[in-house]
Amino acid sequence: MEDILFNGLNFIENAVDTFLDKKSPTENRLKYSVIHFYIGLELLLKSRLAHEHYTLIIRDLKKYQKGDYEKGDFVSVGYDESIDRLKKICGLQVDQRAKDAFKKIQQTRNKFIHFHCNENEYQITAQLLETWHHLLRLIENKTLSNIADDAISRVDKIKFRMLGLQEFVDERFKLVQDDISRKRNQGITIITCPYCYRKSMYLEEGVAGCLVCGTDSLYSDKVAEDWSHHFNEAIRYDQGDELILGQCINCEADAVVLNCNDDIETVSSYWFCFSCLQEYDKEDQSVCSNCNKTIVGFKEAHYICPECNVLNSFKEFEE
Ligand SMILES: [Zn+2]
Ligand SMILES: [Zn+2]
Ligand SMILES: [Zn+2]
Repeated sequence: MEDILFNGLNFIENAVDTFLDKKSPTENRLKYSVIHFYIGLELLLKSRLAHEHYTLIIRDLKKYQKGDYEKGDFVSVGYDESIDRLKKICGLQVDQRAKDAFKKIQQTRNKFIHFHCNENEYQITAQLLETWHHLLRLIENKTLSNIADDAISRVDKIKFRMLGLQEFVDERFKLVQDDISRKRNQGITIITCPYCYRKSMYLEEGVAGCLVCGTDSLYSDKVAEDWSHHFNEAIRYDQGDELILGQCINCEADAVVLNCNDDIETVSSYWFCFSCLQEYDKEDQSVCSNCNKTIVGFKEAHYICPECNVLNSFKEFEE
């Protein structure tokens, strides 16, 4: 069954290669991107059906005889039937916006194959970018749960190539606005993503994810480090080689950033912990006079951090 999945990915990769090959004539470039994307999409949907049971990709089971599958002697389901079976038999819901986008690319593919496509370059490009977004979404939210680790690395490669394209990132940012609003309404903190630079990263306790780059379950201390590195660079230089991350008194994570610009929504305080989402005032910081580590959340003039305290008591013990 894995063959269907890998063949699907081959076609999607081919569609991306073709699309990104700006040297080839525009009409051919778009035509074969659409055709190969569509074949890839159908195969990925079928691979999910086959993952449930291989007979699910056979259109008419009444005519089917044992061994036909191996011989390749069968007619397989098309796009519409696949979507229908995914819902009825596998209980998988494909988002209406995704279905609309897939339907449109199916029609464009039909025009390219049977006569000619009268849509212009920009319309077709927009359709492709939108369908790529929805297909990646199906993989990211595990609707296509049959895509296991060895295939995920291939999907990631496809995704990173697409994310290298400014117009794809812009399109994705536009398409995830509803999801961002939903999260905002739930009171979830939205920040500017340190990887794609769009205000589309959400922070929940201990983890972060970005709706544009599609990464999720990132550890918040790692994200805090990257975020601080990208957005507080200027501050760091202003203050010499000073701290960009503090340790949180509440959760002890090294994930407290300086909130010096408006890249973090809903946060008004000077310090903000990416891990436990606690805010602190500017004065609420103490620097360990032994190791220079900054602890955020309280103020003490001659402070020694717990680690240094332990070290000191060992030294005293040895003396
Ligand atoms: Zn991002
Ligand atoms: Zn914290
Ligand atoms: Zn210390």
